[in-house]
Amino acid sequence: MVHFVGAGPGAPDLITLRGAELLRQADVIIYAGSLVNPALLKVARKDCRIYNSAEMTLEQIIAVMEENRGKDVVRLHTGDPCLYGAVREQMDALDHLDIPWDDTPGVSSFCGAAAALGAEYTLPDISQTVIITRMAGRTPVPESESLKNLAQHGASMAVFLSAGMLDEVQEALLQGGYGADVPAAIVYKASWPDERIVRCTVGTLAQSGRAADIRKTAIILVGGFLSGGGERSKLYDPAFTTEFREGNGLCV
Ligand code: SAH
Repeated sequence: MVHFVGAGPGAPDLITLRGAELLRQADVIIYAGSLVNPALLKVARKDCRIYNSAEMTLEQIIAVMEENRGKDVVRLHTGDPCLYGAVREQMDALDHLDIPWDDTPGVSSFCGAAAALGAEYTLPDISQTVIITRMAGRTPVPESESLKNLAQHGASMAVFLSAGMLDEVQEALLQGGYGADVPAAIVYKASWPDERIVRCTVGTLAQSGRAADIRKTAIILVGGFLSGGGERSKLYDPAFTTEFREGNGLCV
């Protein structure tokens, strides 16, 4: 069985209990060495064979899985495998070969980055939507999903894989309609020991990233949610009745 496992954003104790147990039991681990913290591999069995997929092609990865048919193979992806994980192509290949697999989620870096900032993407009167996207790079992005088009919503935004293109990101956000003074942040290696946080605005995004010399392994967050504040939630308002609690009818 092949176990796809989300490693979390970096800190080794941010993997799930299930993911850690799968790592402990694995006969083979194929980890995404460009982003997965190697400290996670410390729990592997002494006789576990370990491969770094950063140096492999899809064909080589699938060949290792096929050679180990019947054994426990952990395919360790950064964050959660479902975001920019190139995971579906592996699942398709395994289906084709009749090799069973399962998938254990992980803490995505957009959650790790929010935790580092103490931010909530979904503040009541600011935004109730998080747009997860990236700038087009060598992997294209459909035109209808260009950063400029998505920026028109003014929603909370988490931009992956784009820290090397901060000038283009800034320009697209401004063209899409975010004001230059809308808060932004660049979170480098969220939850790693060398995590860094740069708070800025849309208008100072590129300049701030350059000053901090951040070009990769960072997520760009944009939106009014970064300044916090706003209205309180209905859920915990004493006047608000829910399935679990009777409201007192008094507005705070
Ligand atoms: N599946 C991963 C994303 C993989 S794509 C997830 O759920 O997080 C790789 C991109 O993720 C990087 O370019 C960067 O934008 C982001 N990323 C991954 N780990 C990160 C971290 N610890 N801190 C900030 N950004 C991170």
